[in-house]
Amino acid sequence: MSQSRAAMRDSHRRFLQTVMYNGIVSEQLAKSLHQHCCETHHEQYVADGLDDFIGVINSQLQPVFMNLRKGLSEDDAMQYYALVNTAETHVTRMSSDYNDSELEVFKKVIDLIVGSDTGTASSTDILNSTDALQTKKLKKSETEHLLDRLVLEKWLNEKRGDYSLSTRCILEMEPYILTMYADQVKMCHICHNIALQSQMCENPLCGIKIHNPCAAKYFKGRREPKCPACNEVWSLEIPVVGPSPSQPRR
Ligand SMILES: [Zn+2]
Ligand SMILES: [Zn+2]
Repeated sequence: MSQSRAAMRDSHRRFLQTVMYNGIVSEQLAKSLHQHCCETHHEQYVADGLDDFIGVINSQLQPVFMNLRKGLSEDDAMQYYALVNTAETHVTRMSSDYNDSELEVFKKVIDLIVGSDTGTASSTDILNSTDALQTKKLKKSETEHLLDRLVLEKWLNEKRGDYSLSTRCILEMEPYILTMYADQVKMCHICHNIALQSQMCENPLCGIKIHNPCAAKYFKGRREPKCPACNEVWSLEIPVVGPSPSQPRR
């Protein structure tokens, strides 16, 4: 096995360090970063060779249970790369950075988000849900500080007081979410990834979900939008998708 593992060069190391520093990078940024890293270290650059380049890094990361994983953002339907831990997918993997009470609050946040129709949870709902903590109860200010930290460390996104799971969080926690919420969570009918921030077909016999950006793309220019599964009229307002809030750290 070890013979088939291609060695990392300086360009790979620089690329990996930059992704680690940012937590997550867009596909567009990854492409220009690939070029930048090869040129900086005077190594051969293959314009459409990003997948192979990342494959070399992943072959080295595999023995330490890490992986540069590619996945879709629920905010802008663009592809992103994140460094994920493949050995421990439960929220307890964050226990080196967060204490038991904080992890319990984070689990409550995931409960609220997965259980909501919109894939979001308001700060008020989150603060109310922490009244029933089993571990030491956090003060309101401590919970607010925790939410700020979870956004800063790119586990959550926040828009006007509503929290959603970040792309990085979904990439890393997908096995946990699928196991813990097997009877609640649905996959997007268009892209087949977990659908949290999404619309649901109003036909009770159907009830498929489509991500907001997937719906925006799918229904674009259609005069009478119809559900792609049951063919009933899609009476929900077709979402308008703005730029992603997850900008790379400078
Ligand atoms: Zn989708
Ligand atoms: Zn339907």
